[in-house]
Amino acid sequence: MIKTILIIEDDTDLRKYLIRTLIDTGFSVVDIADGVKALEIIEVKKPDLILLDLGLPKLDGESICREIKRNYPQIPVLILTGRNHTSDIVRGLNVGADDYITKPFKEEELIARIRARLRPAAEESGILKVADLELNPETFEVKRGGNIIQLSHKEYELLHYLMINSKRVLSRDMILQRIWMTADYIERRVVDVYIGYLRKKIDGKSKIPLIHTIRGFGYVLKND
Ligand code: CA
Repeated sequence: MIKTILIIEDDTDLRKYLIRTLIDTGFSVVDIADGVKALEIIEVKKPDLILLDLGLPKLDGESICREIKRNYPQIPVLILTGRNHTSDIVRGLNVGADDYITKPFKEEELIARIRARLRPAAEESGILKVADLELNPETFEVKRGGNIIQLSHKEYELLHYLMINSKRVLSRDMILQRIWMTADYIERRVVDVYIGYLRKKIDGKSKIPLIHTIRGFGYVLKND
């Protein structure tokens, strides 16, 4: 079942980035720029998790968190804070937040934390699997046929992106935007180069290739 995440964040760029990232990961997203209507929206949309910025105009994140937790104690709240001070984090956790993440954060860390909070204790571990390829977003460990594969940071990000979108064709532009952000100055060829590195490591020793080229368009990771 698709999980819904409510984003409460006043920074427009960050909000857009979060929306895109979460939708690409397969979540349904509701977003607001301030927390004044948070409770109403929660009542209507029934989100499975809330991403809450601490530094908000009008009503501060801590008050909103307290209100959310008073009314909806079962919904996990993950605090986004740009203030890397222990006291802010402690205050956030004191008003009932379940976890926090400090800006700037890595996308995979955000997703791993969201998944960890969404997962009922009994549920599976969040490890991504395609055929005998496994990626653990919490330990960043990648295995093919049980053998650990060492990847560079970019290779890992690229593989993760391919795996969460397995069977879906990704264009070079989509990959560039996601892994290299909107770096227009970077050659599109960098995608092909990194796919080449990944292929060598992921498919090199296996009889069944998982990374496929869609000529003139991009790439897809799938098992056939
Ligand atoms: Ca803010």
